[in-house]
Amino acid sequence: MGDRAIVSKSGSALSTEEINANFSDLHPCLTPIQAREASNHCLYCYDAPCITACPTGIDIPTFIRQISTENIKGAAHTILSENIMGGTCARACPTEILCEQACVRNKSDEKPVEIGNLQRFAVDGFMASNHDHPFKRAASTGKTIAVVGAGPAGLSCAHRLSVLGHDVDIYDAEAKLGGLNEYGLAAYKMADNFAAREADFIMGIGGITPKLGMRLGKDISISKLQEKYDAVFLGIGLTSTRTLGISGEQLDGVKDAISFIKDIRQSDNLSKLKIGDDVVVIGGGNTAIDAAVQAKRLGAKNVSLVYRRGPEQMTATTWEQDLAANNHVNIYHWLSPAEITGKGKVEAIQFNRTKTKKGKMLNTGESIKIKCDQLFKAIGQTMSTSAVDTSTTDGIELTSGKIKTDNTMQTSLAGVFAGGDCSGVGEDLTVEAVEQGKQAAIAIDNHLKGEG
Ligand SMILES: Cc1cc2nc3c(=O)[nH]c(=O)nc-3n(C[C@H](O)[C@H](O)[C@H](O)COP(=O)(O)OP(=O)(O)OC[C@H]3O[C@@H](n4cnc5c(N)ncnc54)[C@H](O)[C@@H]3O)c2cc1C
Ligand code: SF4
Repeated sequence: MGDRAIVSKSGSALSTEEINANFSDLHPCLTPIQAREASNHCLYCYDAPCITACPTGIDIPTFIRQISTENIKGAAHTILSENIMGGTCARACPTEILCEQACVRNKSDEKPVEIGNLQRFAVDGFMASNHDHPFKRAASTGKTIAVVGAGPAGLSCAHRLSVLGHDVDIYDAEAKLGGLNEYGLAAYKMADNFAAREADFIMGIGGITPKLGMRLGKDISISKLQEKYDAVFLGIGLTSTRTLGISGEQLDGVKDAISFIKDIRQSDNLSKLKIGDDVVVIGGGNTAIDAAVQAKRLGAKNVSLVYRRGPEQMTATTWEQDLAANNHVNIYHWLSPAEITGKGKVEAIQFNRTKTKKGKMLNTGESIKIKCDQLFKAIGQTMSTSAVDTSTTDGIELTSGKIKTDNTMQTSLAGVFAGGDCSGVGEDLTVEAVEQGKQAAIAIDNHLKGEG
């Protein structure tokens, strides 16, 4: 489909075909000719800065050289040995602030090597072929580990533990594996059921037993897991959403952006999803952009993304902000939500105009009203503390609302490790979660060997 959405010109609803086209792959896989051309752009730098800029430390020049010599299996192996979710990361990584930003080609005012697209070419090519699982398990250690959370952090941890010869039970509250890969990433980044296909591929190593529909804090507890298993890994992400704390928030049509995106990701008929004519999204991060762009692609007539500070303070990357603009999303800055109005159902939202003075955000005294029949809140997520009840004796120490870990990724409880969004380490990105899951598995292995 590309960066631009099909929008309704006459004001009428989009057809099913138009909506399906809007939710097809944003950037389809490179063809072999395109991949060869792109790989020839790489200078194969010694001490390549892109490797350091990738949170999972993939040997990028090596896999690109393997592509240029048509060794797709070798290229995929190079990627997957550091990052078992190389397929999702190739689709979702903000490469413009990670590997591609570090590419030396940028220095000569050229475009960087298309690292993400080449990574996708290699991993997709490998997954589409009939190769066996690329990794073998080491001899059994006889140890069993509980992984809680089957998102990128949990799946990456489980996979590496299995490679190291441990048996793993992976628990998740949801009915499907994948975490936000399955329920959160924008649909056009994960077209053709990629999250499920990748989870199946990861589980193909063997030795990992899924225990789905099991919620920590309700069906299982940390203390019971500690009794039953040799070690525990927590990768429970951030599942609670923040509220605005203004009047009208309970009105019909007001929803958090994460549940809206989840509905899209789980729908088997997007044209049946109800979308308003005038949609407002509140927030300045990638979740806000994803909700706004997907609302437009579902056929909303007017979509406004409203943020209380300026464009420089938005956490959404420039690429994401451009995507929103290309998809006819109106972006408003310096407006803070004050009151939602409507009779039973949302009809409008009032904003106070803001400015900063000496770094403090103030209202200017001006206000504006935006008409809306659907309002999505994308103002951040927090960890659900009911999962790890700190008031009980098996309580776990938190820091700034996230699970506190030491430099071996161990929590305040011996033998209990944590990583991904729920821990206070690194940025909340898929690739960071994958790396933390992998590092936690190595730390657990060392811990079980008594190596600290
Ligand atoms: C809308 C949205 C769009 C995003 N887009 C991008 C993007 O384009 N690129 C990018 O790099 N990053 C993106 N991110 C961030 C990225 O998705 C996360 O950083 C990443 O998924 C974190 O992985 P995780 O495994 O730590 O957590 P999650 O993916 O959140 O997985 C946590 C898992 O734990 C389970 N769980 C939670 N509580 C319990 C419990 N009590 N008991 C049992 N199971 C539980 C959940 O069901 C879930 O499966 C996006 C995030 C959001 C919200
Ligand atoms: S995993 Fe992400 S950051 Fe690392 S090389 Fe691949 S696309 Fe770049």
